[in-house]
Amino acid sequence: MSLLVVGSVAFDTIRTPDGKEYQDVLGGSCTYFSCAASYLADVRVVGVVGDDFGQEPIDLLEKHGVDLTGLEVVQGGRTFRWAGTYAENMNDRTTDDLQFGVLGGFDPKLPENYRDSDTVFLACAQPELQLKVMDQMRGSPLVVCDTIEFYIETAREALDQVLSRCDGVIINDGEAKLLTGESNVIRAGERIAKMGPRFVVVKKGEHGGVLLAEGQAWPFPAFPLTDVADPTGAGDSFAGGFMGYLSRKKSSDLNTLRRATVYGTALASYACQGISLNRLAALSKVEVEKRACDFAAMLRIPE
Ligand code: AMP
Repeated sequence: MSLLVVGSVAFDTIRTPDGKEYQDVLGGSCTYFSCAASYLADVRVVGVVGDDFGQEPIDLLEKHGVDLTGLEVVQGGRTFRWAGTYAENMNDRTTDDLQFGVLGGFDPKLPENYRDSDTVFLACAQPELQLKVMDQMRGSPLVVCDTIEFYIETAREALDQVLSRCDGVIINDGEAKLLTGESNVIRAGERIAKMGPRFVVVKKGEHGGVLLAEGQAWPFPAFPLTDVADPTGAGDSFAGGFMGYLSRKKSSDLNTLRRATVYGTALASYACQGISLNRLAALSKVEVEKRACDFAAMLRIPE
């Protein structure tokens, strides 16, 4: 099984409430996703960077077995940059700056061997770009997408097309509410399901999330952490664990989807424990399995 992801590969500037600023650290939806998913599946990346990206992040992803044949390096181009500031609760954040650079005009050409991937994740990126990737796939892969407030507000038409063609959506609560106009998370998820997808995961940050599938809502908590270093990429890491598990199990039936939320939660929690990808990229498969097992055990309530 092979898992294709398209999304942003970025340098992030992160400001935390203790007054610290981490400048131009490795980030991007595609980067977090592929690193998290690499513990569970074979990952293929479609993305773009400028020649300011350097070799170090490429080595890091390749060390995780991530296939970077589809990562275009534009000579003279500048890598996508995002900057954000976290509130005291380390959950709410504001976007301070967004510089698209080479991601702005990116016209992806999927390597021939990528087109047969059976699982596709359209990580947060321009919906037009997500559509271009879908158009190049052969067969009928399982396609799941994510988006962000920015595209709900600026590219709604293309985003509606993406949603109508997806099997699943992973989205956070604020975005789900903005997309549907519903203030209730379950109702928002149900409305999204009516736009096309068979299942919807609405993430609620430190409060976990809810999976909506087969007409039912399956809530799950977050892994309890006392210290959060940097929650950037937690959503993408959740998606990486979730999709990596579906890819590994070659299934998206209800039980597999429910179990996938356990792996998503485990990888998201690790992402929060380090700045940038520092903790996420330093894991072993054993640590991933252990946290998934510990979390699943927490969910079992004895009589
Ligand atoms: P998350 O914390 O899971 O929402 O993901 C944050 C990551 O998404 C950061 O590493 C950013 O580089 C990336 N990102 C932020 N805004 C955008 C955007 N408009 N398009 C694509 N990627 C973005």
